[in-house]
Amino acid sequence: MYAVPQPQHAAPRSPIRGPALPIGIAVTAIGVLLSLATVPTSAPFEQPEPVALMEVPPVDVEATTAADPCADAVVQQALAAGDDAATVAAFGGGESFRAAVVAGNAPCISLEDPARAWVVVNKARPLAPVDYAPPALVDLPVQTTTRSGQVRPEVAAAVGEMAQAAEAAGAGRLGANNGYRSYGLQVTTYESNVRALGQAEADAGSARPGHSEHQTGLALDVVACAARCGDLDGFGGTAQSNWVAEHAWEYGFIVRYEQAGIGTTGYQPEPWHLRYIGVDLAAVYHQGGFHTMEEFFGLPAAPDYAH
Ligand SMILES: [Zn+2]
Repeated sequence: MYAVPQPQHAAPRSPIRGPALPIGIAVTAIGVLLSLATVPTSAPFEQPEPVALMEVPPVDVEATTAADPCADAVVQQALAAGDDAATVAAFGGGESFRAAVVAGNAPCISLEDPARAWVVVNKARPLAPVDYAPPALVDLPVQTTTRSGQVRPEVAAAVGEMAQAAEAAGAGRLGANNGYRSYGLQVTTYESNVRALGQAEADAGSARPGHSEHQTGLALDVVACAARCGDLDGFGGTAQSNWVAEHAWEYGFIVRYEQAGIGTTGYQPEPWHLRYIGVDLAAVYHQGGFHTMEEFFGLPAAPDYAH
């Protein structure tokens, strides 16, 4: 939580000019002491109500709630420590964080920083640098069906919890198809998609190199597993998919490409593609009924590449 600054009264308080005290009797030292001790409600020494200081402008509530959260020491410390969850908490939680970003009131929060859980990568927003690689990657704690089975450590932990919960709820076993994919691998993947499908179809289903969330280490594609794991196209409609759509947010994930977001993201629905944004932000995303990160952070739609 950042402290809400108290309004500063620039103008000195003017002296209160009340009516003269209704002292019609001789004030003796004893009388004053008695009145202080007993404070009778109808005492002749009752102070007049303070006169409102009309020359002081009323507190601007908008300005106060929109105070500069980036100036707060707790926010700065959490950011410097690389602790995304603590940063969101220091803003006052997910909704305060989102509101500050949307209002342009959080200059210390860069939606372009690929190291952060709130980075937005889309067809108009390539990763910077374009060949960015996360500093740490660990194996996903679920069965994986490709060799791209790593994500950032906090994401792996969340996947483990989510997969356990899904199984405990009777939704079946979750596996993973793809986690982190490097820039170099995305070059290969995209080029082979273009060769197989043509560029238009390739762009509807896979990101161009430097534009993939998989390159951040914050995204993964999940699959439904029984004796064996299914593929991506077989995921929609499974018990696992239904459970993920309903509960992934509880573990910090959003389903990034939904039917309702096609016009904004330029991607066909991918019920399997989960993007980690942290529990606080995912809860706000879910409760707010958002369908794209672009809407969530007040960014323009990005259905097409510039070139
Ligand atoms: Zn994906």
